[in-house]
Parts: sequence; C-alpha cells; structure tokens
Amino acid sequence: MAERRLIIISNRLPVTVESREDGPARLKPSSGGLATGLRAAQESRGGTWIGWSGDAGAPSPEVTAALAKHDLAAVPISAEEIESYYRRISNQCLWPLMHSFDERMQFRKADWHRYVDVNQRFADRVLSESAPEDLAFVQDFHLSLVPRMVKQKRPEQRVGFFLHTPFPSAHVFRTFPERRAFLEGLAAADVVGVHTSGYARHLLDCFRERLGAHISGDEAILDGHRCRVVVRPLGVDSCDWETRARSEAVAKEMEALSAAFGDRRLLLGVERMDYTKGIPERLRAFELLLERHPEWSGRVHFLQVAVPSRLGVEDYEELEREVATLVGCINSRHGRIGYQPVHYQFRGVTRDRLVALYRMADVCLVTPLRDGLNLVAKEFIASRIDGRGNLLLSEFAGAAQELRGTPVVNPRDVEDMAEKLHRGLSTGEDEERRTMAHLREVVASNTAGTWMETCWTDLADDEGRGVPAPLDEGAARRVVEEWGTAKRCALVLDFDGTLVELQDDPEAVVPPRLVLDALEALAREDGTHVWIVSGRDSAFLSRTFRSIPVGLVAEHGAVISWPDRAVHRNAEGDRDLEVWIEAPRGDWYELARERMEAVTRSVAGSFVEQKSTGICWHHRKAEPSVGLAAARSLHAELSNLLAGRGVRVELGRDVVEARPADVTKGEAVERLRGAGHLDVDALIVAGDDTTDESMFEAFGERAHTVLVGERVSVARWRVGGPSDLRRLLGALADLRASGDS
Ligand code: UDP
Repeated sequence: MAERRLIIISNRLPVTVESREDGPARLKPSSGGLATGLRAAQESRGGTWIGWSGDAGAPSPEVTAALAKHDLAAVPISAEEIESYYRRISNQCLWPLMHSFDERMQFRKADWHRYVDVNQRFADRVLSESAPEDLAFVQDFHLSLVPRMVKQKRPEQRVGFFLHTPFPSAHVFRTFPERRAFLEGLAAADVVGVHTSGYARHLLDCFRERLGAHISGDEAILDGHRCRVVVRPLGVDSCDWETRARSEAVAKEMEALSAAFGDRRLLLGVERMDYTKGIPERLRAFELLLERHPEWSGRVHFLQVAVPSRLGVEDYEELEREVATLVGCINSRHGRIGYQPVHYQFRGVTRDRLVALYRMADVCLVTPLRDGLNLVAKEFIASRIDGRGNLLLSEFAGAAQELRGTPVVNPRDVEDMAEKLHRGLSTGEDEERRTMAHLREVVASNTAGTWMETCWTDLADDEGRGVPAPLDEGAARRVVEEWGTAKRCALVLDFDGTLVELQDDPEAVVPPRLVLDALEALAREDGTHVWIVSGRDSAFLSRTFRSIPVGLVAEHGAVISWPDRAVHRNAEGDRDLEVWIEAPRGDWYELARERMEAVTRSVAGSFVEQKSTGICWHHRKAEPSVGLAAARSLHAELSNLLAGRGVRVELGRDVVEARPADVTKGEAVERLRGAGHLDVDALIVAGDDTTDESMFEAFGERAHTVLVGERVSVARWRVGGPSDLRRLLGALADLRASGDS
C-alpha cells in the first residue's frame, strides 16, 4: 500500500497570511499547542492542511503558491459566508449549543444553508487533495458535515473527527434544529475524539436516541458503519513551556512584574473574553474574599487577562461592559491610594509575559462555567518549574477529569470559590509542592505530540475488523448447500440474543417450540452435533434442554453436559453436569458483588445475577441511557478494582460481567475441538454478544461464523436478529427431512 499521508482539515489554516506590496506573501505560523502538534505530525507524515486563510474571497495566486510551498491549501470563503457560516452558525449557534448555553443559541435556516455549502467545499477539497489511503482528520464543530460528505463519495477513506468543545447532554442537543444533519455528519467518521468520557457518553446517547444507532461499548453502529467515540484529552508541550520558563526573557519579565506588584500575593486569570469562562463570577468571588477575609486587603492583587474575542458580537460586548463595571466597583470599594485590588487588561500578553505571570501566580484561577478542556490550566502547571503555585479549577473544565488532586469549584458557587481562594493563599509549602509534583507528572505524560500520535493510531490501526457482511439470501443458500453435502456437521450456538430474543425477565425465557423441534431434529441426525454455548447457569440450560440431545456448555465454559442421544438425567430428572473449566471463586467475587449491588440500588430496574463462577449486573430493564452510563462506569471501576486478580470484566449487551479470566467461550470450544468433538466438514457458529467473539476467533475461517445483530465483529456473516437465525436452522433441519422423504 502507498505511504499514508495525514490530511488535516480545520476552519483556520495554522498560519496568518501577510500580503505585501513589495514581495511575496509572508506566512506567520500560529503559536498554539494544537496547531504546533498537528503541524508537526503533518510534516512528518506528509500530506496537506486544508483550511481558511482568514481573509474573505479567493486567495491570490501568490498567496496560493506561498501556501502550497508549505503543503497548505486555502478554502475560499466569501464575505457573506464569513457572516453566516462562521460568525452566526459556528460562533453564535454551535458554540453556545456545545457549551450548553442553548438559550443564547441563534439559528436561521438561510445561515445553515451556507454552513452546508462551506462544509461541502471543504469536503470536495479533501477529495481533490488526498488519495483514498490517506487519513483525513477533521477538526471541530465548524466542519461537522465533512466526514459524511467525504464518505459519501469515498467510503473507503479513513476519516477522523475531533471535537475541541464539550458535547452537551442529549436533552440540550435536541434543541438544535439541525441536530440530525450534525449527528449524521459525525457518525459517518470512523473515529470521533472528545476530551472527556462525559462528552463521549452524551454523543453516544445522541447517536442512539436521534439516529437509532446501535451502541456497543465505545462504538456506534449505523447502517453497517462503525464509528468509535474515543476520549483523548489534548496535552501541552510541557518541555517547551519549561524551557521558556527558564529563559532570560521570562526572568526579565518577572523582575518587572515584581517591581510593580511588590511583595503582594498574586491571583491570576487568563482567557479569551467569553461568557463560557466565568469571569464575572470569579471577580465576585475575589470581592467576597476581601469582605470575608479582610486580612487579605492590601496584601493581594487579582490580575485578569482577557483576550478580546468575537468583537462586534452583542453577547461579547455586553460581557465586556459587565466585566469592566465589576472591576470598577471592586476597585472603588476596596481600593485605596497605593492599592488597586484588581488589575484588568482587555488585551493579550506576549508569551514571555504569560509565562512570567504563570510562574509568579500564587493561585491561578481556571474557573470556566463550561470548557471543552482548558489549556491554560495545563500551561500553568507546565511552567511551574519551581514546583510551587496553586491551581483552582472548575469542575466544568474538561481538564478537571485529568488534573485530579487540585481543588475544584463550582464557579456558580461564589461563596465556596471565595473560601477556596482563601485556602489557596494559605496553603503550606509542603502541601503545595506535593500537589504540584503530581500535577506536573500528569501534564508531562500527555503532550500535544503524544495526543496526535494516539489520534493517528486510532485512525490508522483499527482495520481488519468491521461490521460483518449480511448473510443475504444467496449467501444463506450457499451455506445450506455446503451443509447438505457435508458428512459431519456441527452447530455451536449461543442462547440469549441468538436463539431467542433478549427479554426483561431472563428466567421466563422459553425458546419457541419450532426452534426446539429444529434443534432436536438436527441433533438426532447421524453425524451432526449441536452445542449450546452460553453464559447462562447450568440449571437453566439443563431445564430448557431437558429432553433434547444437544451438548450444553454453561457459564462460558465452566460446566458441561454431554450430548448423549439418551440424555442422562439424575434422580431429579435434570441432565448430568460436569465441571469443564476449573475455576474456583476468588475473593474478588465479594468485591464485585458489593459494587454491583450498590449500583443496583441507584439504577431502577437493574439486577445482579450470581453464577457459580461469575457474577453479572444486568440493566436490560433499566432506562437505556441511565443503564448504559452506569454500565460504563461500573465496567471501568471493576476493571480497576479487580486488576491483577485473574478476573475478566466484560461490558456486554445490557450487562457487566466479572468472571475468572480463563473461563471464556473461546477456551471452552478450543477444548471441545481438542477433544475431537468438532472434527466436522461443515460448522456454523452463531452468537450476538461480545463474549461470543472469543468463539468466533477460535474458529476463524474454519467455520461460518454468524453475528446476530449489527456491530463490529470478527464474524464472517451477520443476520438481523434471532428470528433470521431460526430461519436458517429451520432450513438446515428441513434439508435432511426432505432428503429422507
Ligand atoms: N493565550 C494567548 N494570548 C494571551 C493569553 C492566552 O494566546 O494573551 C493562549 C493560552 O496560552 C492558551 C489559549 O490562549 O493556549 C487559550 O486556550 P484554552 O484552551 O484555555 O481556551 P480557548 O480559548 O481555546 O477556549
């Protein structure tokens, strides 16, 4: 295969173009960590960066040539489109929506049409600038429709999408009039990256509720296409920040700032002027600090750097007025000659000054009302080469998921914020160093470079697995014919979700008479073996298949009942059972049971099932989104809790199951095969759940592996549901019956 290149698609190119009268256009690279990380990857992999230059209309041939020299391709955007696609839909509709400020969302259909046009232009450019084997990596909500537009023309191209903002909960997102188009756009990507597990959960919920996608773990399956939603928080290049923090230029800045602030303590806020950032709330908290703890009056400054953003937009102008008024009020109430409590600057600072401020701040306040991630928090930590400083972080910043250990606040709880500011200013050196050392380790372990490499791997590495091909009429006919000519045949079948539909009450499940008859007819044929391989306990299987000579493998392989024609029964009339894979219950079992019971108490309709070797928490009767969310967090929690104890924790269809790691259906069927029970000429293996994958893998190409349902699987075929599989079994049973007659 040709070398795969990386095609990056973002609203803005990572450069500013300066056209000059007296020479070729000059390109000034953007300095942000994301731009640098993506650019480095694009340069090392080869490929093109597609984006808007920032100017209205088509770029001149000189600018196009200057850009092309650096593998940059400009998508022209007209002045009208800047207004509609960029200012209105992107900034005044999608931005507030993504941050759950849906009441600020402005939407006009005419603007949306332009948004669609511009997205189409980006998608066309991807098609013309890339080869099908290249990886296309689309950035952010401005370009939500691009993945689908590319895939429609070129389904084989791998397309990734990264959302740099939060993704709101399903009930907020549904307020967006074009919700379906947006979601379809994203779901067409092969991988969608987000900053936190909460955003991933919200997005998967929307895929399920709005598009009817089937969700399995982190995957959404829609019309046979798989979209993985992965959590990949962006990092900062901590080495660069450290190097700058040690530089002479920063030392000079620090000297100048020390002269201005004297020995007063410093509280720092740095961000774009945006209503998501919680600047007024923070100012109110600072004022409350001075009122509740007057000992700080005259001893502490609060410096707020607010970088102008989205100028000319009413919401932003109003915020600017509010902040200026608040600053004026605080200074007039609490200031005096020689002491101005708040220093406010409505303009950006140079990078050296920024690092100097990071280095000098006693407390850096990163307290947005909502923020996709927040890089300032990570930059502050990376710059603290002295191991000191306190970070006060909003629980609504995506970075709070990673930066555990630092105090968090709800920015709307101004009283609490004031108290935590007081505590931050009063923290002892030992505690400060302990917390900062931990935070610095976290930040150093995930840079923009490692983030990009992980995204590349996500996009490039998961080939070979896909949604299996449908077992359509023609294919089914061939499978049946093969079966008809074979001398020795075997069926290996999962039970729930495969032979019978999943039901709310598992104990009440009874297979339809027709399927029992078909299985019995098949099992009684000479040279044909039928095995039911299930996660169910042996008592249930033994009862259900009491008089049918099929082999039973219960509890994923822990127990077996042999398929004798005259099925052996014990005194009570149950089938004889033997231990097949030895797996004594470990002390982990109690731990798992306690956690599962705790979750059961909080999720209505869920229940625990105890088996002899494993234990399951089922949520098929719970409200789907509540059940799914609880299942994901229970799975994560148990995986951590039981790590290293030889236990497998699996997230299945409406179930979380913990059982000994060596008890799998794959291992069970390997043993059957090793003992010669599956030496046949035709073999059909069917299952629906993730636990059935190990069976599919064990047989590989040697069997017709059939997935019941729609998701990514190693199976060769898929059928829609148990009734389709039952039809296939009926056809197999009829074959000999009609042949005999
Ligand atoms: N920043 C800047 N100039 C300044 C102050 C800050 O370029 O005067 C940078 C800061 O270093 C950070 C970025 O702006 O990298 C803000 O990113 P963040 O993720 O915190 O918020 P966003 O603006 O993306 O919502």
